[in-house]
Amino acid sequence: MLSTLRFVLFTVISLLVVFTAVYLTILNTYKPVVKTYINGKFVGYFSDEQQFDEIYNDLVTEKQSIDENVKVYLESEPTFEKSYIRDSLLRQQNVYTNLRAEMQTEFTVYEVVLDGEQQMTFTAENQANDYVNKLRSEVSDINASVNVEKVSDLDNLTSTDRADDILADIVARNKPVDIPEETSQQAPQSSYVPAYGMGTVVPTLNGNLAWPTVSRTVNCDYWGYWGHNGVDLQASIGTPVYAFTDGTVVFSGWDSSGYGNCVKINHGNGMQTIYAHNSQLHVAVGETVVAGQLIASSGNTGNTTGPHVHFEVKVNGVSINPWNVLNQI
Ligand SMILES: [Zn+2]
Repeated sequence: MLSTLRFVLFTVISLLVVFTAVYLTILNTYKPVVKTYINGKFVGYFSDEQQFDEIYNDLVTEKQSIDENVKVYLESEPTFEKSYIRDSLLRQQNVYTNLRAEMQTEFTVYEVVLDGEQQMTFTAENQANDYVNKLRSEVSDINASVNVEKVSDLDNLTSTDRADDILADIVARNKPVDIPEETSQQAPQSSYVPAYGMGTVVPTLNGNLAWPTVSRTVNCDYWGYWGHNGVDLQASIGTPVYAFTDGTVVFSGWDSSGYGNCVKINHGNGMQTIYAHNSQLHVAVGETVVAGQLIASSGNTGNTTGPHVHFEVKVNGVSINPWNVLNQI
């Protein structure tokens, strides 16, 4: 009898010890957590709602370090569900990444708009205003304003260096152009007959200025698309290309930047003209040319979508509107 009682007692105590051990093991391995959803999407397990708030606030601070005026929000309030998970899982999860993906941002940017086209984007209003004021002071008739926009990321900000370049380019393009005076004592060769291409066509001359090809039809105008620095004149392959005015050939050959077979002529006073996409070149570097001289035959080489003459004018290395000089022929 006594031995039976001892046996039962021993069994009960043993079972208690085992259950306690199992319970403690489970308690140590599994943690109470809140399973967290945003907009119906699971983002991770947090030890409690307070821990969620702390991590969320860390991420808000992170965004504010990029722009202190950023508006950070979630599309909907988070929902929490009580749960237990294994400790190792709690450590493995990537709540920062998941939560970051659900955070919406709204940055305020200031765009410098010129003639209806956005040219620069800044996060600081005074920076945008500074550039507008500089442009207004340098180019009297410019139509410049600052637009305030809300954007979700800051991918398209303009660096100060880039903004300075854009400003210098706009100022240079709007400067009045001095066409170099005729230096030669000879009369312009208005009867110049090209030896190639269309043979009998003679260039249109006005004093010492010549229309750069035969046709006056414009395929794509200056700034017809972003970055188009010249005027595209219609010309089938082999049409004569004429020197705009007297000068010295400084380049005649293949230009890999997109001009293809290209001629560049310096005219003095920092002025240079460029004739691109030719099929044949008829002048060499160092050669002096006169207005209306045949320098190339038009073509379709380099970066083109069809045969034409790309005529470009630079003053001190900056492209200007070719119509400033073409208008005089
Ligand atoms: Zn062009």
